[in-house]
Amino acid sequence: MTKAFGVDIGGSGIKGSIVDVEAGDLAGDRFRIKTPQPATPGAVTDVVKQVVQHFAWEGSVGVAFPAVVQRGVVRTAANIDDSWIGVDADAQLERALGTEVTMINDADAAGIAEMRFGEGVGEDGVVILLTFGTGIGSALFVDGKLVPNTELGHMKFRGMVAEHYAAGRLVERDEMKLDWWASRVNEYLNHLERVFSPDLIVFGGGISKRFGEFSDLFDTRAPVRPAKLRNNAGIVGAGMAALEKFQH
Ligand code: BGC
Repeated sequence: MTKAFGVDIGGSGIKGSIVDVEAGDLAGDRFRIKTPQPATPGAVTDVVKQVVQHFAWEGSVGVAFPAVVQRGVVRTAANIDDSWIGVDADAQLERALGTEVTMINDADAAGIAEMRFGEGVGEDGVVILLTFGTGIGSALFVDGKLVPNTELGHMKFRGMVAEHYAAGRLVERDEMKLDWWASRVNEYLNHLERVFSPDLIVFGGGISKRFGEFSDLFDTRAPVRPAKLRNNAGIVGAGMAALEKFQH
C-alpha cells in the first residue's frame, strides 16, 4: 500500500487521515478537531499540527484549503479569516510540522481524487467538478489535467457572486426549499455550460447525497453526475497532491 497524508481544512472542522493512494481511500480512521475561531493562520497551523501528530506521521503532508492557493501562497479569503491573504502557507506549515507541505485549493483536491478514483475516471475533454457547501468550489479538467484555482463559484451571476445565489448552504441551513435552490443551481449550470461547454459536470459537496431528489430539474446538454467520493475527497486529493508534488 502506498501511503500519504491528507488534511482538509473546512469552516467547521479540520480533518486528517493517512490515505491509501492506490485505493483512493482513507487508510484508517480520520481524526477531526473543530476549526478554531477566529481561524487565523497561527491557530489553524496549531490544529493541523495536532492532527498530524495524532497519527505520528513523519512524511510529507497535503492540505486542502478553501481559497485560491498559488504555489503555497493563499490569495483569497471568501469564507476564511482575512489574515490568510498573502500567507505562504506551505512555508508556515513546514516550519511547524518539520516536514514538506503542499497546500492546494479544496475543490481542486476533491477534483483530483474524483478524476482518479471516482466519476472522472477515463473522462477526457472538459470536466467541471463543483462542490456545493458553504460556498461553491470548482475544479476544471482538460483531458484529465487540472486548471488550478478556477473559482467558478465567484463568477458574477444574476447580479451577485454565484455562490451567494446557489451554494448548498442555502438549503442546508433551511433558508430555501430544495426545489427552489435546485432551479437556481440549474440556471448556474446552464451559464457555466454556455461559457465552457463541458463534456461532464460532476456534482459534489455534502448536498450531493440528496442528488436523486433534485437532479431531474437539471437540463444542461452535458450530463451532471453526483460525485462518487463523498466526504473524504478533499483528504484523499490532498494526500495525492503531497505524494505527487503537485505544481501550481
Ligand atoms: C472559495 C473557494 C473554495 C470554495 C469551497 C469558495 O468560497 O473561494 O476557494 O474552493 O469556497 O470551499
